[in-house]
Amino acid sequence: MDTQQLINIDRRHIWHPYASMLDPLPVYPVERAEACTIYLKDGRELTDGMSSWWAAIHGYNHPVLNAALEKQLKSMSHIMFGGLTHEPAVELTQKLIELTPPSLQKVFYSDSGSVAVEVAMKMALQFWIAQEKSEKAKFATIRSGYHGDTWNAMSVCDPETGMHHIFNKALPVHFFAEQLRCRFGDSDVQADLDSMHQILDVHHTEIAAVILEPIVQGAGGMWFYSASYLKELKAMCERYNVLLIADEIATGFGRTGKMFACEHSGIEPDIMCLGKAITGGYMSFAATLASDEVAETISKGEPGVFMHGPTFMGNPLACAVANASIDLLLQSDWPLKVKHIESQLEAGLCECSELSNVEDVRCLGAIGVVELEKAVDMAVVQKRFVELGVWVRPFGRNVYLMPPFIISDEEIKKLCKAVCQVIKEEGNK
Ligand code: PMP
Repeated sequence: MDTQQLINIDRRHIWHPYASMLDPLPVYPVERAEACTIYLKDGRELTDGMSSWWAAIHGYNHPVLNAALEKQLKSMSHIMFGGLTHEPAVELTQKLIELTPPSLQKVFYSDSGSVAVEVAMKMALQFWIAQEKSEKAKFATIRSGYHGDTWNAMSVCDPETGMHHIFNKALPVHFFAEQLRCRFGDSDVQADLDSMHQILDVHHTEIAAVILEPIVQGAGGMWFYSASYLKELKAMCERYNVLLIADEIATGFGRTGKMFACEHSGIEPDIMCLGKAITGGYMSFAATLASDEVAETISKGEPGVFMHGPTFMGNPLACAVANASIDLLLQSDWPLKVKHIESQLEAGLCECSELSNVEDVRCLGAIGVVELEKAVDMAVVQKRFVELGVWVRPFGRNVYLMPPFIISDEEIKKLCKAVCQVIKEEGNK
């Protein structure tokens, strides 16, 4: 199929993320991707600054991950999980239990991050139903969060960026603490805690769990908050008899400089969601981990089982590539690599802080964010990035980089230079 034909069919028939079918933004056909380079069909080569939305931590087309998939393909690509099990899932479970906080011992596999969040929220509800406290059916969270696009996940996303106003007649209404002001590294977190404290103090008897993204709020605002806040919040949840769900879907597997962002605070959540980088970005797959207490309480109550079971639960291909991806990560000196990426991003993006259209520049682990005063014009900015040979996709007021961990210094320099240049051009308009 020639490139123009491909673009025409795509434009006429295919929905892309958050897109119009009447006036869609341009999409760029990709021929292949290798390591940190995306090869477009028109011959252009782009350095990847996105890891395909936090996922491709080892880069693209990795020989080890390819081999793991090919090997698994020869025995079975899928088998139902009801009544059957297999080594890839058991091996992955051992790894996840080993890597995550010790209290998380029970693993539920599903097919995407949003579903992992739905599963976590259902677990929290069933935990209380089993104890005849079905009135604990609401959730508390923080503004600027993001947890996915399915119904209940959407209901705990930031009410503005999550577009609650569009769906408000149908969405369950939960409790939102004020947007966090504390930054990563701050020790005074009292003002932020007060907001959540007011909610829990008045409504704890109706609240099943607090759900949040530990340390880094991703798609809802790209904000890095204090480890002390998370630590204090966990203690507050315990005092008020409310569960804590940590959504590590974006932060998990080293992205923030710790294997899981909860480790910055030394806390153990009751339930943890993993996704994205779990398969090294090879395919959609997710896990929801729970403590023994949560899992056993659910299993003791009515109806005696956890009520969820997706068709592709525990998919062997996904488990096999996840096992290979975790092994690759553990065999690398990833903490050093991520720290190095952090310092490279800081050095490369710091000149943006001088620009008049820039509100803030912040870096943590392999994440660099330039927050602008105004939202960017996506069509214009995206085109400029492609012209400059990089793949960077801003969101609202945030232009951000979260490259694969295998990125070279030269490639980071190229990404940062392009970000600074495009933001300068935006400021000159
Ligand atoms: N939680 C967080 C923190 C996320 O960043 C995302 C995806 N951006 C999700 C949940 C939803 O994951 P998925 O897109 O795989 O459904």
